[in-house]
Amino acid sequence: MTISSFMPPVRTLMGPGPSDVHPRILAALARPTLGHLDPLFVGMMDELKQLLKYAFNTENELTLPISAPGSAGMEACFVNLVEPGDKVVVCVNGVFGKRMCENVTRIGATAVTVDCAWGQPVDLAQVETVLEQHRDAKILAFVHAETSTGALSDAQALCALAKKYECLTIVDAVTSLGGVELRVDDWGIDAIYSGSQKCLSCTPGLSPVSFSDAAVAAIKARKHPVQSWFLDMNLILGYWGEGGKRAYHHTAPVNALYGLHESLVMLQEEGLENAWQRHAAMHASLAAGLEALGVHFVVDAGSRLPQLNSVYIPDGVDDAKVRQYLLAEHNLEIGAGLGDFAGKVWRIGLMGYSARSENITLLLTALAEAMTQQGYVCSAEDALAAAIK
Ligand SMILES: *Cc1c(COP(=O)(O)O)cnc(C)c1O
Repeated sequence: MTISSFMPPVRTLMGPGPSDVHPRILAALARPTLGHLDPLFVGMMDELKQLLKYAFNTENELTLPISAPGSAGMEACFVNLVEPGDKVVVCVNGVFGKRMCENVTRIGATAVTVDCAWGQPVDLAQVETVLEQHRDAKILAFVHAETSTGALSDAQALCALAKKYECLTIVDAVTSLGGVELRVDDWGIDAIYSGSQKCLSCTPGLSPVSFSDAAVAAIKARKHPVQSWFLDMNLILGYWGEGGKRAYHHTAPVNALYGLHESLVMLQEEGLENAWQRHAAMHASLAAGLEALGVHFVVDAGSRLPQLNSVYIPDGVDDAKVRQYLLAEHNLEIGAGLGDFAGKVWRIGLMGYSARSENITLLLTALAEAMTQQGYVCSAEDALAAAIK
């Protein structure tokens, strides 16, 4: 059998990531590959660090993309800051908080969890009670934008609490970066990781990270070597560090980094705050349209993520059939529920380049059609009228 080239169709990606990749970014990926120690490429790496500092709102020197997906950025933060025997308070209000616990225990450290309701932001009072009971905790870890539920937590207030109890913070900003307000320095975040494929609208596979001076000092003061060779920031710094002298660590994913560079150039052109506002405006439009279809939100209006809309599947509507219909008839992808929400909710992404009005029109029209086919009564016209208002 001869296998021929893979030719994917053009889909509209409105799930929990990857989001639609802008044609400018796809074009950047196809530019000529350079050697990873070529001076021109090294210059681009320096620009990439500058652009990431802009996106994170930080002056942190140790700001760079890990050559692997968001999960590796998560692991990089934990393996570098947590040592065997440490105590880490982890806020859990969805799937990604659970993964943080898994990282902590695999290091041989203790995870003290603050279990919060799914679909709600992390509860500050609960966190303070736990920090009060565990004065020896070294780190507070939480997810800023819980993609499994669509809830936004108050990162600024959580970081202030952590400082009060002399804890460093590890923050998951995989879905928040570029989509909602995020200020690493002003809020006092010590270690943060994100992903390329959510609100940055780049291809999957890269994880921007940033570490504060206090986090770097903690890494330098470690008693045990970092258990992961690949993710040891001391070694990665030799490759990404300032000042021309680059020691080979691994071969950077050269073309993927062109893509990230382009996506961040586009973010800078739009303006970070304008990007946040665009996500908020598109969310308001989508929410009005969905409510007009009788489709209701899981998360209260005050803590909804604009870029990830989790909604209850109406009674009598078949989850899988609707998603299959959208994909087969409209080349449109939305997300299924994850963990406790499997089969109960849809997750509709408005991330980065996906957050535009054509996509909202397509989604509302196609969803109304798919649900009508199953005998559900709704009107696409009403939904579109509500979305425009
Ligand atoms: C997507 C996501 C991750 C994992 O990122 P990958 O690139 O899939 O490894 C981690 N945390 C959150 C909140 C996410 O949404």
